[in-house]
Amino acid sequence: MLNSGADNSGILQAVLDCVPEPVLIIGEGLRIVFANRAAVSLCGIDLIGQLFVAALRHPAALDCVTQAMAGHERVVSRITLSENGADAVYRLTAERMENRDQADKAPLIVTLRDDSHLDGAEQMQRNFVANVSHELRSPLAALASCTETLRNMPEKDTKARTAFLDIMTQETGRMERLVSDLLSLSRVEAKARVKPTDKVNIPNILKSSALALKSVAEGMNSDILISCEDEDLYAIGDHDHLNQVFINLIENALKYGREGGCVTLNCCRQRQSGENSTIAIVEVIDEGPGIDTSHLPWLTERFYRVDEHRSRRVGGTGLGLAIVKHILQRHQGELSIASQVGKGSVFTVSLPEFPSDTAHV
Ligand code: ADP
Repeated sequence: MLNSGADNSGILQAVLDCVPEPVLIIGEGLRIVFANRAAVSLCGIDLIGQLFVAALRHPAALDCVTQAMAGHERVVSRITLSENGADAVYRLTAERMENRDQADKAPLIVTLRDDSHLDGAEQMQRNFVANVSHELRSPLAALASCTETLRNMPEKDTKARTAFLDIMTQETGRMERLVSDLLSLSRVEAKARVKPTDKVNIPNILKSSALALKSVAEGMNSDILISCEDEDLYAIGDHDHLNQVFINLIENALKYGREGGCVTLNCCRQRQSGENSTIAIVEVIDEGPGIDTSHLPWLTERFYRVDEHRSRRVGGTGLGLAIVKHILQRHQGELSIASQVGKGSVFTVSLPEFPSDTAHV
């Protein structure tokens, strides 16, 4: 693609074709004199001799190249291009190539670096901060209004004072739960790359998770039933993190399930089709109102709730399933959700089984 008769042009072309980022060289009249393979795939074929503006139709890209051509500084700009129906964000850099004899005639080298992932991460961080602020705003506003009311309230009115103090305790609890879930999430994320190696007994973890929620179940007149095919079911895992996974799922099954109903925990071993390995499966089944299928793909996103009022009423933070997802990713496990409106939901966890010498059938 280099329109120069130089002997080294073939080598230069071969080298720059290996560069994954698009590289263009722009000559006089802002015409393209070189394009590597990545540039061809981004801007299209037959680039040589074309005007830069025709190859990359973006006003900021043209500004950048014109400025770089006029001066001798490196000019950088961020441009958004539409690729296959999705937006991609590029960092475009334009600067004159070295030519000491004819500095004003030196061509421009233009490179484009795909920064879409950075942009996505920044956007996620902005959304996260906005969500946390939103979650904290209402308990803080409630606390501020209660303290103001208490300040102006006659001391003798003990009944009203107690009612306001109760609201304050509730709102403080809500903020405590949010902070505690945020800390859990950040601890889990910090350990994301450290794969667990311990041998953990799944039925035992299920029993301790269910025990931790005994009083919650009693408060809702609900039962938790555990049914394990084999008590010797072991996974490769982090005991505390898996305990957290099952606590979050069982607590949701109680909170969103039927009052006076039953939460069933099934665990079994399953052979993976076409593979020689087995996985441990745990199902958390409730008899609640179920979840419409349109919500299922979003449930593990931070702060996603089907019914925000209900979640708040039952003390939800919107982070429980996001924590579950991150812990399972660390364990190379999976969460799948099936639900039928009016009948209930099944949250299924699968985890790689701890390899044993005994072959299972
Ligand atoms: P929350 O703290 O709000 O419970 P989660 O991340 O644990 O947050 O759950 C996200 C949302 O998924 C909940 O707000 C609720 O709408 C829905 N959900 C979770 N588990 C169940 C369930 N067993 N039955 C019905 N809805 C559920």
